[in-house]
Amino acid sequence: MTETSTFRGLPQRVGVVGAGTMGSGVAQTLAQAGYHVVVVEPDTAAADRARDAIRDGIRLAALLGRGGRTAGADAPGRVHWADRPEALHDTGFVVECVTERQELKERIFTELDRCTPPDTILASCTSAIPIASLAARTGRPGRVIGLHVMNPAPLKETVEVVRAPLTSDETLDVTARLLASIGKRPLVVQDGPGFVINRVMMLTIVEAAAAVSEGKADAATTDALFEQCLGQRMGPLRTADLIGLDNVDDTLTVLREHTGDSRYTPPPALRELVAAGHYGRKTGRGFHEYK
Ligand code: NAD
Repeated sequence: MTETSTFRGLPQRVGVVGAGTMGSGVAQTLAQAGYHVVVVEPDTAAADRARDAIRDGIRLAALLGRGGRTAGADAPGRVHWADRPEALHDTGFVVECVTERQELKERIFTELDRCTPPDTILASCTSAIPIASLAARTGRPGRVIGLHVMNPAPLKETVEVVRAPLTSDETLDVTARLLASIGKRPLVVQDGPGFVINRVMMLTIVEAAAAVSEGKADAATTDALFEQCLGQRMGPLRTADLIGLDNVDDTLTVLREHTGDSRYTPPPALRELVAAGHYGRKTGRGFHEYK
C-alpha cells in the first residue's frame, strides 16, 4: 500500500471474522486495496468456499479494471487464513462479519477485546444489532463502530457507518479514512436497532412478502412493480434473495427483540422458504429461481 495522506496512520493488517457472503466480500475489497487481511473462519467448508470466492472475485475485478492498481495476481496472497481469533493479535482494525445472532456477536466481541491490541478498532457488519450492546462487551467502547457494508461488498461505494454513543471522534476518523482507502464513502448515522437502512427496508421486505402470502401478486409481479413503476434497481423480494433469506429472518428477530414491534414478523411466504432451506441466491432458490 502506498503512503499517501489518505493511507497515513492506517493499520496495514486488517482482520475479518466470519467468511460468509459479507466477510469474503470485505476481505476481497481490502486485499485488492493492498491490505494484508487475516480472515478468521472456523468452518472449514465455509473457509474453502470463501477462498474460491475471493480468488474468483479478485480475478474478475482485475479483468474488469476494478479494484484499484493493486488488484491482481498478488492480492490473494495478502489474505491469511485462521480458525481462531488469536490470529488477530497484530491487526489494527477488525471487521466482524459473523452470523446475525446477538449472543454470538457479543461473545466474539469479548474474544476480540482479549485477542487484539487495546487500540485496535473493532467494527461490526451487523444488520440490526445496536453497536452499543457489542461495545459493552469490550473494555474499549470508544473504539467500537458499526460498518454496515452492503452486498456485494466489492461493488458498493457507500457504507452506512454507525456511531454508538461512546464511539470516539478518532475511531470515526480512522474508519472514514480506511473506507476512502478502499474506494468507499461513509454515511454516518446514530445507533439503534436496524440503524436507518434496515429499520426501513425490513418493513418493505415484510410487506412485499405479505402481499405474496395474501395472493395480491406473485413475487415476479411484486418486484416488477418496484423496478418498472418506481424505477428501483431491484425489488424488495429480489433484494431479500440477495441478502439471504436466513439472514433476513435473523435480522427480523433482532428487530423484534429490540423494538417489541410486531411489524417485523416474517409472513408465511418468507417463513416457508426459510424452513425449506431456500435462502435465495446462495442456495439457487428463494422468492425467485437462480441458475
Ligand atoms: P453468512 O451466513 O453468509 O456468513 C456468516 C459466517 O460467519 C459463516 O461463514 C460462519 O461460519 C461464520 N461464523 C459463525 N460463527 C463464527 C465464529 N465464532 N467465528 C468466526 N466465524 C463464524 O452471513 P452474511 O450474509 O455474510 O452476514 C454476516 C453479517 O453481515 C451478519 O451480521 C449480517 O446481518 C450482515 N450483513 C449481511 C448482508 C447481506 O446482504 N448478506 C448485508 C449487510 C450486512
